[in-house]
Amino acid sequence: MAITAVGSIALDSIETPFGKTEDELGGAASYFSLAASYFTEVCVVAVVGEDFPTEHLELFKEFGIDTEGVKVEPGRTFRWGGVYGYDLNQRETLYTELNVFENFRPRLPDKYRDSKFVFLANIDPDLQLEVLRQVHNPALVACDTMNFWIERKREALQELLKKIDVLIVNDSETRELTGEPNLIKASRTILGLGPRTLIVKKGEHGALMFSGDSVFSAPACPLESVFDPTGAGDAFAGGFVGYLDYTGNLDEVNLRKAVIYGSIMASFCVEEFGIKKLTTITTTDIANRYKEFREVAYFEL
Ligand code: AMP
Repeated sequence: MAITAVGSIALDSIETPFGKTEDELGGAASYFSLAASYFTEVCVVAVVGEDFPTEHLELFKEFGIDTEGVKVEPGRTFRWGGVYGYDLNQRETLYTELNVFENFRPRLPDKYRDSKFVFLANIDPDLQLEVLRQVHNPALVACDTMNFWIERKREALQELLKKIDVLIVNDSETRELTGEPNLIKASRTILGLGPRTLIVKKGEHGALMFSGDSVFSAPACPLESVFDPTGAGDAFAGGFVGYLDYTGNLDEVNLRKAVIYGSIMASFCVEEFGIKKLTTITTTDIANRYKEFREVAYFEL
């Protein structure tokens, strides 16, 4: 099976207290696809400009990522710049240059339309809805969004929530979407809007998964070296959806394991700048970190 993933492919410039990069491969779809590629095939739908280095498309291919859905349009690639201070949970966006992304209209190649697993990264909810109109009968649709769309496109977002299975957002987005500071109450409101499952990412404090009456709390891996948190949320989604697609099992026990695989991919992502670490790990590294997560969360009844 393969996942269809739709979102940004970018050239990012990032500054943290530990270093600086310029015009490196980034974007939500890049982080998602590389993370998910350790579990399954990914078909990516995105747009880049004529200036996009072909070596990045080659890299996707090396990871078995299908790039037929990546359109190259005249103009410059989407660029994003961000800076972090010592509190890596806080970042400032320096600039967002939409460029060819401004007129992005996702069009799925025919062979993507039967994908059973779909990930809608953070883009305009109207475009996320347009993608859903093109897929035939998905088993699971997972979706991200951000404060920008919650504030400006609430109606489209509410329409979208009725059509998806899993919403993956961070704690501040959960609060903003519901106007409710308590995450447990907020989760009930969101599950009432449509999704069967809500995942709330809490950065270095782990993640919560709500489905029906069940709550699962996953720890974050206690890492000594965190260099760059960019893309951690998308890497989380890649590990989560990637594992579900690989196993094809959507029961609660497996969803909980998928949250751990999501946390694992996020933990690797933040250990180096940009996408770098996601291109150098092995399946043995992933298996070893799974054991570490078990140890961190284990306690006797
Ligand atoms: P995250 O750290 O999960 O917010 O993801 C960061 C990635 O999102 C970066 O690689 C950016 O290129 C990309 N990004 C930043 N702003 C936007 C936006 N408005 N729409 C789509 N992607 C974005």
